[in-house]
Amino acid sequence: MGFELDFAKGLEGFQEGVRQFFEENIPKDAPFAAPNEPYTREEYLWRRSLARKLGERGWLFPTYPKEYGGGGLSVDQAFVIAVEATRNGLIFARMCVIPMHNSGATVSAPCLLLWATEEQKRQFLVPMLTGQTVTWQLLTEPQGGSDIASTTTRAIRHGDEYVVNGQKTFVGGPYDVNYFWTLVNTDPAAPRHQNLSYLMIPANLPGVTIHPLDLCTTDETRQNNSVFFDNVQVPAVCRIGGENEGWKVATTHLEYEHGGAGNPVAESEALNQFFDFCKTTEYRGAPLSRNPGVRDILADIRVEAQINRLLQLRTFWKAYSKEPLSYEGSQATYYRRMSNLRNAGRIQESLGYPAVIADSSWTPGNGEVELSVRYGFGGLHGGGTHDVDRVVIARRMGLGRTVQEAAGEIVS
Ligand SMILES: Cc1cc2nc3c(=O)[nH]c(=O)nc-3n(C[C@H](O)[C@H](O)[C@H](O)COP(=O)(O)OP(=O)(O)OC[C@H]3O[C@@H](n4cnc5c(N)ncnc54)[C@H](O)[C@@H]3O)c2cc1C
Repeated sequence: MGFELDFAKGLEGFQEGVRQFFEENIPKDAPFAAPNEPYTREEYLWRRSLARKLGERGWLFPTYPKEYGGGGLSVDQAFVIAVEATRNGLIFARMCVIPMHNSGATVSAPCLLLWATEEQKRQFLVPMLTGQTVTWQLLTEPQGGSDIASTTTRAIRHGDEYVVNGQKTFVGGPYDVNYFWTLVNTDPAAPRHQNLSYLMIPANLPGVTIHPLDLCTTDETRQNNSVFFDNVQVPAVCRIGGENEGWKVATTHLEYEHGGAGNPVAESEALNQFFDFCKTTEYRGAPLSRNPGVRDILADIRVEAQINRLLQLRTFWKAYSKEPLSYEGSQATYYRRMSNLRNAGRIQESLGYPAVIADSSWTPGNGEVELSVRYGFGGLHGGGTHDVDRVVIARRMGLGRTVQEAAGEIVS
């Protein structure tokens, strides 16, 4: 499975241009905080301006149609952007470059492309793909996140508006947001799966309150929030997809949440830094990497990293060569999460307490390693838990059922 090497063939000129863009636009003195520290408002604003520059070129969402602000580029070109973005410390996920917290964009963009009207695409999709707006995804509610079909946040239609009441939790990041990509219950009396709708809610509407949650397990932003809706009047044009047909849209949304787009560059900077540390740090007269116990651990990590990379690449390749998908996304996600959890334990076993100290004079590398140990646990929950991955795999295989569940529709 060495096909990833062929991706960039004939794209040397394009790769050079992308590389040059990042060199020119991410200067050495860019205001980056350590990866395991919350980023400042200055850094956030700087990242937003970088997003706009990427968006101007269509490189935020490289494969999306040009008419909606995407790049109209081939998957090969997107792969080149993914490699260069990753090299520059940015994340490439779900065919999107992520310069700052924009959780809703990566999952709602494909939903808008598939389910929104032309007018809604102009209103919501274009500013999103060009980096003008930030969107948070609002699924999880306090009574339980995995089972999103039990959504209780109500949106009751009154004329041209929905009146929204309820609460979402563990959502978003620390700074400004423009839209909430929100699953709501539009008919509390209707049966499960026939009572939901999606709203793209402007975040500045009266009745919206954002309450920060400082959690130890979240990503580099270290902040999620609860969002409260108190009689928020949302224009009906903000409903994406049919009324009470939100579950159809959710199947697309969840396919992405559960890893259905794969990841062409599934490398872990934390593991690279951990390996470097073990190779260059002496313990009892020899590098840590020569210690028999640590060597075993490093070998296990390396083997799992390769399996993870290949599972992600297989899903990515199937998705974008339009081969039918089944359980691959959830399988790759499950493997990644459980491997990350095992690695969190292995790193602690190798390093002891410095593995969990967020102080660069103690912990290896620039903070990525410590973050990965902390995130080993938190990462089990984002996007539905690892148990949900297993439920999806079982359903797609038809285990315990007479009919195999089909994968949700994705954009490719
Ligand atoms: C870092 C991070 C970022 C997040 N970002 C967002 C975001 O941007 N937007 C958003 O809406 N939410 C977000 N979340 C919330 C996340 O989606 C939920 O945590 C997740 O859906 C699980 O819900 P829960 O925590 O309520 O746990 P529950 O769903 O209540 O699960 C509790 C326990 O029951 C188990 N369980 C649940 N269902 C089953 C089942 N069917 N079979 C077997 N076991 C089961 C779970 O594995 C778990 O052990 C984020 C969470 C984290 C940690």
